Amino acid sequence: VKEYDVVVIGPSSAGLTALVTARRHFPATSILLIRDKEELPVTCGIPYAVSTVGDPRKGLVPVKRALSRYGVDDLVDKATALDRTNRTVSTASGSSVGYKRLVLATGSVPLVPSIPGLDKGNIFPITKDVSHLRDLINAVDRASRLCIVGGGYVGVEFAEECRKRRGNLHIDLVEMLAHILQHAYDKEFCLRAEEALRAQEINLHLDSTVRQFNGFKTVQRVELASGRQLRADMVILGLGMVANTELARKSGLELGPTGGIKVDKYMQTSDPNIFACGDCAEKVSFFDGAPSQLKLASIAVTEGRIAAANLFGKHRLNPGTVGVYSTYLGGKTLSGAGLTEAGAREKGYRTVVGVAKTVNRHPSAMPGAAMLEVKLVFSDQLTLLGGQVLGAESGGEIINLIAACIQQHMKADQIATMQVGTHPALTPDPVSYPLMNAAERALRQVPLATRSS
Ligand SMILES: Cc1cc2nc3c(=O)[nH]c(=O)nc-3n(C[C@H](O)[C@H](O)[C@H](O)COP(=O)(O)OP(=O)(O)OC[C@H]3O[C@@H](n4cnc5c(N)ncnc54)[C@H](O)[C@@H]3O)c2cc1C
Repeated sequence: VKEYDVVVIGPSSAGLTALVTARRHFPATSILLIRDKEELPVTCGIPYAVSTVGDPRKGLVPVKRALSRYGVDDLVDKATALDRTNRTVSTASGSSVGYKRLVLATGSVPLVPSIPGLDKGNIFPITKDVSHLRDLINAVDRASRLCIVGGGYVGVEFAEECRKRRGNLHIDLVEMLAHILQHAYDKEFCLRAEEALRAQEINLHLDSTVRQFNGFKTVQRVELASGRQLRADMVILGLGMVANTELARKSGLELGPTGGIKVDKYMQTSDPNIFACGDCAEKVSFFDGAPSQLKLASIAVTEGRIAAANLFGKHRLNPGTVGVYSTYLGGKTLSGAGLTEAGAREKGYRTVVGVAKTVNRHPSAMPGAAMLEVKLVFSDQLTLLGGQVLGAESGGEIINLIAACIQQHMKADQIATMQVGTHPALTPDPVSYPLMNAAERALRQVPLATRSS
């Protein structure tokens, strides 16, 4: 049995980052990647395969190139069992490899609740599989009425992409909560996202749950709990993802309260030689250490960097998940980081909010001018807890600045006096830069004498 210093299982955001980081931190180690598929789509780009990119094969992760660049061996095979005593991994085709340290980056699979009628044809969960996505796109081309179940970012991105591909397709979107994207944005931002979808003739059914799928061989109607029947000859399920812990569970590793592989702050599992990162790993909130269901590529990459750096000694700590999202709807950026105002209150914070709007160029006669709106959510101690940005494309990077401020526990006063770079063709005017102005507006609500520094 060939033994490697490091074996990584899973080639996506978490696994690839872990093996590159392991190579950077431990240049002399031997590293092997085990992956169960030759082709892997860039997961965040999956919805855009429908129209903007047009083909799932055009958006593949360049795994082979990365492996040869970083001197990592490759085994395309499914890891099926771990022998933790002898530190070996066995695979579906019967091979076996040894490891000193193992990184599990086995990701997630679609959440498919047990709704009656799920076995009917033309119902598509979103898997990270090229041929499944091809089938889905072919079905979109043949469908006349599509129903998307789930109004999270996957559901809404698919809705918009299917509309772009087929102008005459009837599209219904069913969301259980009062608003789409409600987990990531406050109501005023959700309403704007809903407007953007309705403007594209995507019919929203909010506060609605699916009771069953009706039809014969293939789906014909989606029955809601209200009794209403939506005619549909195709369904896309965007209901979230669950940790893929099959291998970990079979090998007796402990799982956490949300069903992910239990890890400590170093990303070490209940077996000190095994680390886990990405969607398969259990997470806790940055804000209060409570179990967190968040599953994002950006989190997977951070965890991959932490896990790999700790393989042969404890160097990096995971502070917990902040949650930074961006989407692009109706030609506008919609981004959020940390806690929403509603989410912060649910966690027991008393909040102070500041909002600022401006143009993303100066003067506004510059080409490419578009509005940018920023909302910042602070605790009553004026520590930044969250932010939301709507409008111009640069909002997708301003949210990252906000996320950095959250991670540094920055106070409103520090944000109001932050130094940033500006340019007429690239950014808002420094005088009206929305981040500082939103912080100033929050500060204005708290009398000077009561502010803690
Ligand atoms: C449609 C869609 C859009 C998204 N958009 C965004 C976005 O815009 N921004 C964002 O931050 N996040 C987004 N996400 C979430 C993001 O894709 C995931 O958080 C990210 O892919 C997690 O990466 P991962 O490496 O942990 O796992 P995965 O991407 O799930 O990869 C796990 C890999 O391991 C392989 N594997 C599993 N078991 C085995 C085994 N036993 N042997 C060998 N190989 C195995 C799998 O085949 C897979 O290739 C999106 C997700 C979806 C589905």
